[in-house]
Amino acid sequence: MTTLIASDHGGLNSKSAIVELCQDLGVAITDLGPCCSDSVDYPDYALTLIKSILDGRAERGILVCTTGIGMSIAANRFTGIRAALCTEIDQAERSRDHNDSNVLVLRGETDAAVNRAITEVWLKTPFGNVERHSRRLNKVDRAGRLAEVAVLASEDPEIYASIVAQTEQEDATINLIASENATSSAVRAATGSVLTNKYAEGYPGKRWYSGCKPVDAAEQIAINRAKELFNAEHANVQSHCGSSANMAVYFSVLQPGDTILAMSLNQGGHLTHGSPVNFSGQLYNISAYTVSPETEVLDYDAIKEQALAVKPKLIVAGASAYPRLLDFVRFREIADACGAMLMVDMAHIAGLVAGGVHPSPVPYADFVTSTTHKTLRGPRSGIILCRQQYAQVLDKTVFPGLQGGPQQNATAAKAVCFAEAMRPEFKAYAAQIVANSKALAQTIANRGFTLVSGGTDNHLMLVNVATRGLSGKDAAAALDNAGIICNKNAIPFDTKSPFVTSGIRIGTAAVTTRGMRETEMASIGGWICDILDDISNTDLQQQIRNTITGFASEFPTP
Ligand code: PLP
Repeated sequence: MTTLIASDHGGLNSKSAIVELCQDLGVAITDLGPCCSDSVDYPDYALTLIKSILDGRAERGILVCTTGIGMSIAANRFTGIRAALCTEIDQAERSRDHNDSNVLVLRGETDAAVNRAITEVWLKTPFGNVERHSRRLNKVDRAGRLAEVAVLASEDPEIYASIVAQTEQEDATINLIASENATSSAVRAATGSVLTNKYAEGYPGKRWYSGCKPVDAAEQIAINRAKELFNAEHANVQSHCGSSANMAVYFSVLQPGDTILAMSLNQGGHLTHGSPVNFSGQLYNISAYTVSPETEVLDYDAIKEQALAVKPKLIVAGASAYPRLLDFVRFREIADACGAMLMVDMAHIAGLVAGGVHPSPVPYADFVTSTTHKTLRGPRSGIILCRQQYAQVLDKTVFPGLQGGPQQNATAAKAVCFAEAMRPEFKAYAAQIVANSKALAQTIANRGFTLVSGGTDNHLMLVNVATRGLSGKDAAAALDNAGIICNKNAIPFDTKSPFVTSGIRIGTAAVTTRGMRETEMASIGGWICDILDDISNTDLQQQIRNTITGFASEFPTP
């Protein structure tokens, strides 16, 4: 364990005594200065020491100034730093045992022998009763969610209020929107970083602006990680969102009027898969495939027949509301049979693919597009993966074809998310998303509700509420009243308008991020059915809302 020490001029004498103590105890200590008694500014020395702890070069630090107060204030501004100002031995012991303090702050005016004794106890005391104290320390860390935006409280109170409202909503409700998740503080930190300041038209090493070294590094890391995570030949990480990623692929290989074979919006596809209100439906000739009316599952033989008949230039696989695994082997075979290229839009399932619980489209598709903010749990953004043969045309289409400067703060946040998705715990997370989805689906089905296709293989399910005389719109509104947030959704061959719908879509990515498991899915499923069984009962909705507030607080969002 490496320990660092720094002071200002007022802490110089105590610092020397502590360095001697460490040498006596055989503790490796590095003195970061100052070395003479000229007046210096304590924040400079605090910052030098804190930076080394934050980036892992050292585990612990000791700071000394005349009163200890300035150093404490400077150190405790940083998430992950727990600086304890100790003037008595007992405080040093408790700061380790209760608070897992990683920075000891000493008052230079305290007798040097006392500071020595305080330090010895601090160095020797372990963090105790981990379960009890960790819970409290987690709450300290959670306060960081507001600390991240604290400056806005005075700079822009109106925007601050909307961020606080979102934070409180996340804390007090159950988010079952299948396309959402809750990002780590690391992803949010990169998203809110100074990288937003930089213009960087072009690609790493080939920019139109000077001063791009830092963003070149971030973008290259994001590209490398995207390729490694998905085992892809080429990655473009500049798309601003999933829709622009899809547009970039279409613009790379299609001409207006070319035929695309894709799943229609009202069957579970996305707007950008050819909806008439979207550029995709307006520029291209769309042939839409459906699920089987009997099984509500994709019928690959029927899709093949359709492909052979319409001879598309591009086949799009992927969906926003399809609860079953996609068979990319079949899609490739169909594309080959009709001489089409294959694009897989894995926006919804990217996290499941990264976690190994959904087959990867990468070996089969010419292009794979994705958002990064759904099951993948990154920032709100997009990526495109492709075979090397399309790399040049794709990059040229993204920039300068469609975009100007990339959002390098989002690029960095994507890199953070890819690194998180490569960790073993992400595999466990992805598996739990699916286990939770199946458990929730089972609970709802056991109460007599009809699930589209009879169940789920992935992170989402579609509940056909029309079979119980309800509309998706009313069902989602009633659930919202009770603190359960999901969305109305068309079901295949829906007879109701897209504003009303016969279904609701429910997903488990965000609740799984909060640590909920099968037991919690049984509770949530029970509440959903109670509400839908008695949809006009607003007292029940309020009662469940109150229960959910307490329930949700046990599962903190990151
Ligand atoms: N593709 C699919 C399958 C989606 O579900 C979505 C969004 O929900 C998108 C693309 C578009 O993503 P964005 O909203 O980032 O444009």
